[in-house]
Amino acid sequence: MTLRLFNTLSGQLDDLVPADGKALRMYACGPTVYDYGHIGNFRTFLQVDVLRRFLKLTGIAVRHVMNITDVDDKIIRNATAAGLPIGEYTARFEKAFFEDLESLQVERPEIIARATEHIPRMVELVQKLAAAGAAYQTEDGSWYFRLAAFPEYGKLSKKDLGGMEDGARVDLDEYEKDSARDFALWKAAKPGETSWDTAIGRGRPGWHIECSAMAMEFLGESFDLHAGGEDLMFPHHENEIAQSESVTHKPFARHWMHVRFLLVDGRKMSKSEGNFYTLRDLLLKGYKASAIRLALISVPYRHQLNFTFDSLADATNAIDRLRTFHQRLTAGSFVEGANPALQAAAEKAQADYLAAFSNDLNTAEARAPIFDLIRTANTAMDQGQLLAADRDAILAVLASFDAVFCVIEDRDAEPTRRALEWAEQAGRMADVAPELLTRQGLTDEAIDALVAERTLAKKQRNFARADQIRNELAEKGIVIEDSKDGVRWKRK
Ligand code: AMP
Ligand code: ZN
Repeated sequence: MTLRLFNTLSGQLDDLVPADGKALRMYACGPTVYDYGHIGNFRTFLQVDVLRRFLKLTGIAVRHVMNITDVDDKIIRNATAAGLPIGEYTARFEKAFFEDLESLQVERPEIIARATEHIPRMVELVQKLAAAGAAYQTEDGSWYFRLAAFPEYGKLSKKDLGGMEDGARVDLDEYEKDSARDFALWKAAKPGETSWDTAIGRGRPGWHIECSAMAMEFLGESFDLHAGGEDLMFPHHENEIAQSESVTHKPFARHWMHVRFLLVDGRKMSKSEGNFYTLRDLLLKGYKASAIRLALISVPYRHQLNFTFDSLADATNAIDRLRTFHQRLTAGSFVEGANPALQAAAEKAQADYLAAFSNDLNTAEARAPIFDLIRTANTAMDQGQLLAADRDAILAVLASFDAVFCVIEDRDAEPTRRALEWAEQAGRMADVAPELLTRQGLTDEAIDALVAERTLAKKQRNFARADQIRNELAEKGIVIEDSKDGVRWKRK
């Protein structure tokens, strides 16, 4: 069964198959580790996970590279503000990112490539671009890509680049202007900034060169698929193509997949809009990691998805149904034999499931036949018409469903436990849903942390927060006593 996947470059559904007949070589842009990821970011990583899991289910091996952007404008700004070397600053968020991926059951790519560990390859690429006449150095020592050297610029995003000004330059890592400009490949060192001493001068790489260099290092000059969120199509991916193809004169990636945004009230979820939730925020509110995964993947990647708490509640119910049904099949005892109607239903569900996925990873349509099968099988079980061979056939369908959706097996305890542990360390206990604490039992350490947070809040004259903590603890039967010897608490 061949996957037909929309290809931004060709503008149509194309077959996605490994060119070398062995493994699908794919590159997906990874995170910039300057903060905790929000669930919009994770929607993109989850949809790429759906892709790789489906490919594997159909017998295709993958060689998947993900970069970690561990040097860029935002990282330098934040690390400087925190008074930390960038490596120390990013390590914390990289760790958090991988924990979050694990919580969401996102498989780890075969290759993780940190930008700061591949500087020589980026320098080499800039040198090759310079030799090809596609890069030039400015007076301050920075290097820029000369857009005029790549007439095909714009072929991915299909933007009308009429406003292109010859020689106009931009040195920001992120820019969204519609007019194309010569962009920075290498930024000359500024006082106090992290930099590398190299053959093209002292400085640091631009964001775009990072992905071109590492993709080609691990996957070769041409590879099967490149993926990322829709905001990366222009200019980031357009720039990657320009940098790579100007040197190789070969197609960089043959297939381009772009995941559409997660929205909040019709606007892109983003750090700068302030309308975001991190995975940890939602876990602390008491939502299960599996429900967050299911809600974020159930709308196909080519549709924008409006985030709502109702969708998390729906996903929670769907998972309950799946798990209860699975439990009913595995724990029940069934008479030997096969019911032809159920055998046919299982076969049809499996075929419809695979067909929906093959049609541009339509996760919504792929779910439907599984829930239909559950309904049919539950009715048959109620009537004693589901036999042992039917159970086996249906369990096989559930297993292939879970090979991609990955929500039936209950792995929810660990992510929640980890989030609570993090909340204690990060002073976020006040954000934990009371039901969750009741469910988990409020530990002495958690109470100590809350009491300490309250003392600090009082010291900072944030009495509203201090009162909020006192009230929340009171609701759980914890009484705080302020005395001249300090603060004590006791359980009522
Ligand atoms: P960043 O860490 O900002 O470089 O983003 C990591 C990934 O998340 C990129 O592929 C972005 O395109 C993607 N992304 C950012 N915001 C959203 C959103 N609201 N919905 C879906 N994907 C997003
Ligand atoms: Zn990239």
